[in-house]
Formats: sequence, structure tokens, C-alpha cells
Amino acid sequence: MKLIEGKSIAETVYGECLESFEELKAAGFLPGLAVVLVGEDPASRAYVGSKEKKCQELGMHSVKIELPAETKQEDLHQVILDLNADETIHGILVQLPLPNHLDEDAVILRIDPAKDVDGLHPVNLGKLAMDDPTGFAPCTPSGCQRMLVESGIETSGANVVIVGRSLLVGKSLALLMMGKGEGGNATVTIAHSRTKDLKAVTREADILVAAIGIPHFIGPDHVKEGAVVVDVGINRIADPTAPRGSRLVGDVDFDAVKDKCEAITPVPGGVGRMTIAMLMANTIRACRLKEGL
Ligand code: NAD
Repeated sequence: MKLIEGKSIAETVYGECLESFEELKAAGFLPGLAVVLVGEDPASRAYVGSKEKKCQELGMHSVKIELPAETKQEDLHQVILDLNADETIHGILVQLPLPNHLDEDAVILRIDPAKDVDGLHPVNLGKLAMDDPTGFAPCTPSGCQRMLVESGIETSGANVVIVGRSLLVGKSLALLMMGKGEGGNATVTIAHSRTKDLKAVTREADILVAAIGIPHFIGPDHVKEGAVVVDVGINRIADPTAPRGSRLVGDVDFDAVKDKCEAITPVPGGVGRMTIAMLMANTIRACRLKEGL
């Protein structure tokens, strides 16, 4: 069994980012990312902190806008419109989920598609569906695809089963993997909460992706001998033996499944590492596209 580690592959992406960043700087341009955080959700706060830290490490211009949980829809729209007009900002990310009273789709629609580095604006999702490389693909799915490519796993003609149909992960990854680019050309099946006989479906997978949000949901009965397993899940479970009383686990029961796999991603240290790397890559590309480089 080969362990597909996110850290080293993310480092490769950061290396490319740095190279591109230096070129931009030499040409007089500084890529800038704005992250908008509404409310106090601790997980969202931690994600935003990591994104800010990575921007600083790369030397990128970074702006964090923190708004109270009771922020009104119109006020959030105005923040987005101001960032759209800000020449120093090339990428805008609104940390999801937003508090319940806010309409996420309406907010995403306000983001200039050329600055939508999270890839969730309908223009970018349309470009993804059209195999148009000028768009931005969502970061977690493109991170999964990059992991497979960097690990030398053949996707062309492979049977890929993705469990989970969210736009953020499952549906977008399906579009990427059935696309014609590198890491694509797969035969993709999406399974979800209404799928009948899920185990029979997932056992057909050469590459099985779990994006469900249920700890240890995928067990050995779901996995074909010799399959590649990509675990997108990040779930916090109670663990009295852990220093914080809890720990992170994936959607795959790693210990029970690993010996059946040709390759598998761990949690933590797998897909999660890639998401921020792809965000940085998208932001630098947004800057290049804007400046015509
Ligand atoms: P979501 O809740 O939007 O979607 C979950 C999907 O799982 C749904 O499509 C649902 O149909 C499917 N599902 C639920 N129960 C099922 C069942 N019993 N059988 C089959 N399918 C079932 O979640 P999401 O935003 O797509 O996130 C999924 C997981 O990935 C979560 O653990 C989340 O924390 C994690 N995640 C990780 C990253 C990262 O950076 N690694 C990024 C985003 C999400």
C-alpha cells in the first residue's frame, strides 16, 4: 500500500506558486487575496487563519475581513463589491458556511468571476463543465485531482466512484475527472445518500473518493482489492486519549481499509493539505490573467 501524502504534493504546488510569484513581482505585480469571515465558527476561523499564514509565507498581499455573525445580506454584498473594485485584490474567498440567515448563493453571485478563486461562481462552474481552462476550479476537488496526477495514478479510462454530490466537492470533482485534461478522462459515477446498494457501486471503483462527512463511513466491504482511495472527509470525533479530547478522522476507516488498497490518502495530512495550496495557485493565476502575463 502506498500512502499518498498531501504535504509533499502541496510543497510541489507551493514551489510552483513561489516561482510564478517571483516572476510577477519582478514584473511589478503583487498577487493579493481577500478572505471574508462572517461570525465566530471556530473551524472556519482556523481555516481562515491557515490561509492568511500561507499568504504571508509566500509574501502575498493578504486581507482578512472579519464581520459579526449578525451582518446583514446587503452589507456583505457591499463588502464583496468593494473587493471587486479593489485593484490590489486578485482573489476573493468567502469562508463557508455563512450564518443561517445569509443567502450564500446570492453572495457568491456578487463575486467578480475573475476573482472567484474558490471556483464557486456559476461562470466558473460553467467553464469547468465546458472544459474551459480560463476558469477556476474549486480548490478541494482540484487538490484531489492533483494528488492523483502527482502520484502517477492513471485516471484515463479508470472507473471512478465519488461518494457525495456537493458542489464544493463531489459534483465538481466529477466534472474535473470526466474532463479531457490531465487527471481526467475517467468514467465517473457519483453515489450519494439515495444510492441503492452503495457497497456494490463502490466496489466497482478503481479510484474511490469519499466526500460524505460521516466518520469512518467507508469500510473494507466498500473497497475493491487494489483500489486507490481518496478520503476528503474531515470529521472531529471525541477521543479522551487525545490532548484536546478530540481528533480529526476521515470518511474512510483507514486502518480497516488500507491493506486492500493500492494507494490511500490519510486524514489528517492528505487532501486537507492540498486545499490551501490550490487556493494559492488559483490566486496567483488570477493575478497573471488580470495582468496578461
Ligand atoms: P456535504 O454535507 O455538502 O455533502 C455530503 C454528501 O454525502 C452529500 O452529497 C450526501 O448525499 C452524501 N451522503 C451523506 N450520507 C450518505 C450516505 N449514507 N451514503 C452515501 N452518501 C451520503 O459535505 P461536503 O461539503 O461535500 O464535505 C464532505 C466532507 O469533506 C466533510 O467531511 C467535509 O468536512 C470534508 N471537506 C474537506 C475539505 C478539505 O479541504 N479536505 C474541503 C471541503 C469538505
